[in-house]
Amino acid sequence: MKANKTDYDAIVVGSGPNGFAAAITIQKAGLSVLLVEGKETIGGGTRSAELTLPHFVHDVCSAIHPLAVCSPFFKALPLEKHGLVFIEPAIAAAHPFDDGSAAALYKSMDQTAQALGDDEGSYRKLIGPVVKNWPRIIGDVLAPLHIPKHPLDMASFGLKALRSAQHMGKTFRSKKARGLWGGMSAHAIQPLSNAATAATGLVLMSAAHVEGWPMAARGSQSIANALAAYFVSIGGTIETNFYVDSLRQLPSAGAILFDVTPKQLLKIAGYKFSPIYKWQLKRFRYGMGVFKIDWGLDGPIPFTASECRQAGTIHLGNTFEEIAATEQLTSEGKHPEKPFVLLVQQSLFDASRAPAGKHTAWAYCHVPNGSTVDMTEQIEKQVERFAPGFKDRILGRHVMNTVQIEEYNPNYIGGDIVGGIMDITQLFTRPGLRSSPYKTSAKGVYICSSSTPPGGGVHGMCGYHAAKKALKDVFNKDVVVVN
Ligand SMILES: Cc1cc2nc3c(=O)[nH]c(=O)nc-3n(C[C@H](O)[C@H](O)[C@H](O)COP(=O)(O)OP(=O)(O)OC[C@H]3O[C@@H](n4cnc5c(N)ncnc54)[C@H](O)[C@@H]3O)c2cc1C
Repeated sequence: MKANKTDYDAIVVGSGPNGFAAAITIQKAGLSVLLVEGKETIGGGTRSAELTLPHFVHDVCSAIHPLAVCSPFFKALPLEKHGLVFIEPAIAAAHPFDDGSAAALYKSMDQTAQALGDDEGSYRKLIGPVVKNWPRIIGDVLAPLHIPKHPLDMASFGLKALRSAQHMGKTFRSKKARGLWGGMSAHAIQPLSNAATAATGLVLMSAAHVEGWPMAARGSQSIANALAAYFVSIGGTIETNFYVDSLRQLPSAGAILFDVTPKQLLKIAGYKFSPIYKWQLKRFRYGMGVFKIDWGLDGPIPFTASECRQAGTIHLGNTFEEIAATEQLTSEGKHPEKPFVLLVQQSLFDASRAPAGKHTAWAYCHVPNGSTVDMTEQIEKQVERFAPGFKDRILGRHVMNTVQIEEYNPNYIGGDIVGGIMDITQLFTRPGLRSSPYKTSAKGVYICSSSTPPGGGVHGMCGYHAAKKALKDVFNKDVVVVN
């Protein structure tokens, strides 16, 4: 059913976490909001589905949610009342090595540091201040560029965060600490020699110590469902199967916010934009893509290292040097034989994901943007390398190359899962250098996806900040959901 020509105060296009955050912020301000989603179901990167076999529930995109539990916006919403429960694995993340040992990121910073032996002090020195200052900096980290509320604490964070992961990795001497750091920083999806890749490692490791690295009970879809239920409970309207090709398709509204990336925004609303803004959107750069696999398994993954058998997330890449080399190769358009693999084993901690005694696992590796190469064998060899016997446990698998990922969610251009490369030039100025990154050159039209600050991940902060800007510009309302 298409939306009829009713007027709304605002329309949000796209039901990812940022689309919902924008819609909720505006609806909460006492205005009427229509949220439209092109696909049959809501959720964007927070959907779950039986991808492999009946009763095996897989996270199609995001799986682990440190940013959701850190998000000041999500924290301000009663999502628990709408069914959202987070489950914390015994160990946040583990990082196995070829000799059968593993490094681990525990909730406790002390335990993590102590397990790093000679690098205990270095770990405390690098991560300790970020953990200590976390409550004062997280709101500024997950926000557009502005004068921070606590400039000294932010400066102390920024001095480390703006360095490359490779540079900051020199802090550590042991294989364990360096490997752990490399795996964390590789979530930046770019060469570890790039400036500001240290920010990813610092934020993810500190987040584990402050809030944990949980998964959503019953799957990431529970996040979308809770956001949708809350939005509807405050009077919002959702319409699915409404793919927007042009602004002209939409009912009239004072503000329209797009949870899409620049490439799509140009197609949908380009005819309304100034030449300069169009030029800025055309220059926006997308980064590496991902090749994704989900498995239905006959038993848990038989990792050699005991830490890996208790961790939610496993980073498979062996040493810092090996990870740095594969990320570099991938950024040059190549497909490494031993890719860095990010793996999550949800069913170990959430029995609702698979039939009794059976298990699920989720993994991806980085590939060149737009790649159609099948990386199944390379990924499974990496798992087998640290968990001999893994392949014998596979009951079913579902794979997506970058083209299939983009078909699944049009925001993942060429398989880029963070809405555009988050390198030093696009970290703060996404989608372009403007007085507000959320405001387009067309009156009443805004962009609220992960292609705006603070970027990729399930936290809703892009949507929240975009909505605040629209509320101020269009409705002259100063709304603060998050302090
Ligand atoms: C394989 C994979 C693993 C990931 N792992 C994690 C993780 O573990 N933790 C984490 O925090 N993040 C993870 N992410 C990233 C995370 O999913 C995204 O950063 C996040 O979902 C971005 O939210 P968003 O609201 O900006 O956009 P999206 O979640 O992408 O939502 C955009 C929505 O807009 C809809 N849409 C697009 N164009 C139109 C149109 N023209 N008309 C109507 N609707 C439209 C789409 O269908 C989609 O539903 C992962 C992503 C992938 C793909």
